[in-house]
Amino acid sequence: AVKDFDCEVASVCPFCGVGCQITVRVKDDRIVQVDGRNGPANENRLCVKGRFGFDYAMSKERLTKPLIRRDDAPKAADIDMRFMEVSDVFREASWEEALDRAASGLASIRDEHGGGALAGFGSAKGSNEEAYLFQKLVRQGFGTNNVDHCTRLCHASSVAALLEGVGSGAVSAPFTDAMKSDCILVIGARPGQNHPVAATYFKQAAKQGKKLIVIDPRRQELMRHASHPVQFTPGSDVALLNALLHVIVEEKLYDEQYIQANVSGFEALREKVKDFSPEAMSEVCGVPAETLRDVARTYATAERSIIFWGMGISQHTHGTDNSRCLIALALTTGHVGRPGTGLHPLRGQNNVQGASDAGLIPMFFPDYRSVEAADIRAEMQDVWGRTLDPKRGLTVVEIVDAIHEGAIRGMYIMGENPAMSDPDQLHARAALAKLDHLVVQDIFLTETCWHADVIFPASAHAEKLGTYTNTNRQVQIGRPALPLPGDARQDWELIVELANRIGCGWSYRGVGDIYAEMASVMRSLDHLTWERLNEEDCITYPVSEPGGFGNEVIFTEGFPTKDKRGHLVPADLLPPDEVPDEEFPLVLTTGRLLEHWHTGAMTRRSDVLNAIEPEGIAAMNPAEIARRRLTVGDMIEVGTRRGTITALLRADRDVADGMVFIPFCFNEAPANVLTNPQLDPFGKIPEFKYCAARVAKL
Ligand code: SF4
Repeated sequence: AVKDFDCEVASVCPFCGVGCQITVRVKDDRIVQVDGRNGPANENRLCVKGRFGFDYAMSKERLTKPLIRRDDAPKAADIDMRFMEVSDVFREASWEEALDRAASGLASIRDEHGGGALAGFGSAKGSNEEAYLFQKLVRQGFGTNNVDHCTRLCHASSVAALLEGVGSGAVSAPFTDAMKSDCILVIGARPGQNHPVAATYFKQAAKQGKKLIVIDPRRQELMRHASHPVQFTPGSDVALLNALLHVIVEEKLYDEQYIQANVSGFEALREKVKDFSPEAMSEVCGVPAETLRDVARTYATAERSIIFWGMGISQHTHGTDNSRCLIALALTTGHVGRPGTGLHPLRGQNNVQGASDAGLIPMFFPDYRSVEAADIRAEMQDVWGRTLDPKRGLTVVEIVDAIHEGAIRGMYIMGENPAMSDPDQLHARAALAKLDHLVVQDIFLTETCWHADVIFPASAHAEKLGTYTNTNRQVQIGRPALPLPGDARQDWELIVELANRIGCGWSYRGVGDIYAEMASVMRSLDHLTWERLNEEDCITYPVSEPGGFGNEVIFTEGFPTKDKRGHLVPADLLPPDEVPDEEFPLVLTTGRLLEHWHTGAMTRRSDVLNAIEPEGIAAMNPAEIARRRLTVGDMIEVGTRRGTITALLRADRDVADGMVFIPFCFNEAPANVLTNPQLDPFGKIPEFKYCAARVAKL
């Protein structure tokens, strides 16, 4: 450990939803080391991002002054930051001028065209308090529910299925319960890359002899530890999962007593899965029938089984159906509501759980309470003192479409980078360029900033105080370790400044005040006081009594649905929206790399992480590369019906034949130029995991 430091700060990792607790060592206002702490999610462990990715906060590229777009600056969809000087497009401004300009632009659109002409994207990287304030500003100040964030691009379909099936979008048990389980099923997730510390628990459990079933269209390192590694045909999730359910029903492996006491819809499910025998589905999903039977028996007959899933399940036009099948596996076998069992969608960003809980989504107030329910709305109107919009708002991709249609004219974007993260990126950038007024609040000049009229330089994770909720429902405190650079300001202060300039009349003395108001409208935070969190650093919600421990395992006595039962919803077999053909013969899938986080805004400015993965790649199986007479290291062109990009060709045995994988973090090879914006009808999540593509040597 570094010995020469001025102070140590106890905080949490700013990257993934695992929520590792960290000790940040600071010398001369610079972070010199990050170490793991003994938090409940990491027990001193850290991955490469948590340990070495801290220097982004001290990057010379940080925004330090408010910026205003020059009157003569171009505002085009294809504006490319790599070939522009910042001073050609923006001029520095005082805070007063920037805040006034931002507020007056948004207010005049609201006053002339109504609140529905505005929208806001908040951030899952920010704290719970920032998420709460942001959605309150949009609902109370803008007068619309057009507020969303990156959950729409990751687990929106999982949450839709969970709310419908078990009445709660949160996980039923922490990932550390893998250690108490007899059978761990990981599907459509690559925890070794995306939740590395969680993956250590899965490997540890496997080493102790627990069954580990890993199911994914791409092979992965975790499969080396698995008792059942299963690679299947991309897009055939429902076929595979219904085949497992078929075996459970046909071989009577279900828990009749549990179903009778707790579950509805079993007869409809039994009827639906009749035609999905493993023998019939084997060819569809590319898995031998006997393997499917073995997996079903292993999962169903274990004393305690638990399911983890990720974007491979959720980012499909049938993403909600995929999650419905996973819920059906757990409910029919009674593998829920006990330690070592349950349903756990592995959350991506560090605070995507908390931001969603805090209401940063268009259809729900905080705590997933419907904006369309008159009684709930009346309650929130009493707290916020304004008449609120009775209609659910638009989601991320719908907002982009509404801009093109002229219905949305102004936006406030805090900490999100839709110019890189949204599907069909050129379409999304054209929308941003079309806005009459765009205010962006961020720590770097992201791809989205280049379309802004006003840019607020904001606070990095290491500079702020706030709470973050990890994938395990553990609410944890992040503490400031660094001073703000230049004139940058705290995100929460900027939201308040903007709110008060458009007539909200807010007064908060600090983050504790915001937390107190948020907790007063969220029953899930009962007994989680600001004081307790500061003292204990981490509390799992829900807590049943004052001073009590959080309930790590929920659904122990039924479900929080109206009839207290879990609901089975059978799923049909639907093809992906766009399947390969002669012109576009490959399947394109996108995702993340271990070293880079989402659109790369932070990790590409971290020296260690960027040195390991420095340039945009496209990965294909060596056999596919040979078949296409390509050479590893070639620059190739990858094209879909939406556009083309160039990337360095990498050989990767994990990628299936007929497939190309591109991480979406590289702005020089932006994968989302290629992706299909078609939405899952329930969760409104785009089909990032599957579209038709072609490759050619440049
Ligand atoms: Fe941070 Fe996630 Fe790595 Fe933990 S596993 S150190 S939370 S990136």
